[in-house]
Amino acid sequence: MARIPIAEGLFTSMSDDARLIGGRCTACEIVTFPIQGSCPRCPSTDMTEHPLPRHGRLWAWTTQEFPPPSPPYLGPKGDAFVPYGVGYVQLGDDVRIETRITTAEGLKIGMEMELVLVPSWTDKDGNEVIAFAFRPVV
Ligand SMILES: [Zn+2]
Repeated sequence: MARIPIAEGLFTSMSDDARLIGGRCTACEIVTFPIQGSCPRCPSTDMTEHPLPRHGRLWAWTTQEFPPPSPPYLGPKGDAFVPYGVGYVQLGDDVRIETRITTAEGLKIGMEMELVLVPSWTDKDGNEVIAFAFRPVV
């Protein structure tokens, strides 16, 4: 069974030190995640890859208490489903990203969070599909 990323170009590697790949506009320096083909703030189309910090601060969140509609959700259902958080994490001064959070318990605004790569489901070829999430730093 292979481990494959949920999408190409989201993170720098499949290892424990992976970073998310943002985009930075060479004209106005705004940072986006994921990288985009053109700047959302100015007319530039010159966006360069910009690896994002692995750690950030929880800005806001809510909890997902039941399995979302499928597709796109392909994770555990029924009794196997475990509630999780969904929220925004501020990564340095760079960017605030929307992300899955590994837990629905003990979350507090402003707490330190770190990037983790998490198995999400097994595809029809038996590959383990890897997505990203953030977890509280304890
Ligand atoms: Zn720009």
